[in-house]
Amino acid sequence: MFGKKKNSNLVSIGYKVAKVKLYPSEMQKSKLYLAFRDANRIYKYIVDNSITNSASIKYLRRKHLGSQFAQGLVQKFEFALKSQKGLKTANLATGKITFKRVTVLPHWSDQPIKIKKFIGSNAGKLRIQNIKGDIRFRGAKQFGKFDQLADHWKIVAVQLKQQFNPVSGKYDYYVHFVTELFLTPENYKKYENRKRLYRLWLGLDFGSSTALTFSDGTKIDYRYQHTEAIKRLSTALNRKLLTETGRKRSARFRRIKRRLQQNWIKLMNQRQNILNHIKHLLSRFNIATQDDNIHAWTKLRSLSSKLQDRALGKLKAFIKDQTESILLDSNNPTSKVCCNCGNYNSSLTLSDRTYQCSACGVSIDRDVNAAINMLKFAGIQPQLYGHVPQFLKNKLSKVPGIEII
Ligand SMILES: [Zn+2]
Repeated sequence: MFGKKKNSNLVSIGYKVAKVKLYPSEMQKSKLYLAFRDANRIYKYIVDNSITNSASIKYLRRKHLGSQFAQGLVQKFEFALKSQKGLKTANLATGKITFKRVTVLPHWSDQPIKIKKFIGSNAGKLRIQNIKGDIRFRGAKQFGKFDQLADHWKIVAVQLKQQFNPVSGKYDYYVHFVTELFLTPENYKKYENRKRLYRLWLGLDFGSSTALTFSDGTKIDYRYQHTEAIKRLSTALNRKLLTETGRKRSARFRRIKRRLQQNWIKLMNQRQNILNHIKHLLSRFNIATQDDNIHAWTKLRSLSSKLQDRALGKLKAFIKDQTESILLDSNNPTSKVCCNCGNYNSSLTLSDRTYQCSACGVSIDRDVNAAINMLKFAGIQPQLYGHVPQFLKNKLSKVPGIEII
């Protein structure tokens, strides 16, 4: 897998990131903690002293941070300086240089992080400069996927990350491997053709009563399970804030606060999981949808929280970026036209859940009618209309929070 000779004819098809979680021993954990403390100290020094010259940070004391990591840090800072200068010459406002995330970026060419071996399908061991012994990691499955996707892949960058986990109250460590994927020219041709020939189309309506309705009649709704607890806990916390006086917070206050944080993390994870599964479904098809005005809708108060919750904007941005999709203008009357005969029904209101055609007699779910019209207005040939396969529906319905109707 590593060290395969690179054929110069290979075609790059893009980048993927493998994120693996580290399981260091207690000793290794404390070493990692100290290394990040050194990195943090350097970041803090840069921000506090508005440093503009990387020479002065090269000699800062950093006993625990490996030299290659420290050099990566200097480079990251120099890059930030350069782009800030660029902004200044372009007459754009610039502020202080800040670092939002604690990351250590080493030189990949020097390989301060080395994958030693894979154990089983998902686990492995790696080595990090300045830290004794192999460190176990999980998430090696992702490398196996790259093998299926591409004829050749190579790691082009790597990041070591420290992340606070409020559930355990400790730090977790991750390594992100940025990987470039390649195909041989012959396979690249096939890949291009496959993309063109076998990608079918789905119409998609971002409905008001169901989150997503597809032209084949599939409806996907999703809701989060931890929102009630969050509401309850924040009310409790606010009450405590009002009644408690004095500097020191009570044990009960801290307990509620921590539980609230835990529930937030769970909610965010669930939300991300749901979004990932829906994105996976969307990425299998070309999508025709409408750029209707979600902002205008959110002004209707009853719908407001529902719509924001569903992160529709994120999905829409994904459709725009990731697929060869068509985004129809909001002027297209997709919900008022009959998908069967094209008759226009001007009297249809938002509360009509069924589209009843007075011309051809068809009776169809309002959102499905709109989704089919997306395909028609986009000019897609009927033989290219796709449907969501049953196995995918089964898979999606097992995801916590997702409901297939
Ligand atoms: Zn009709």
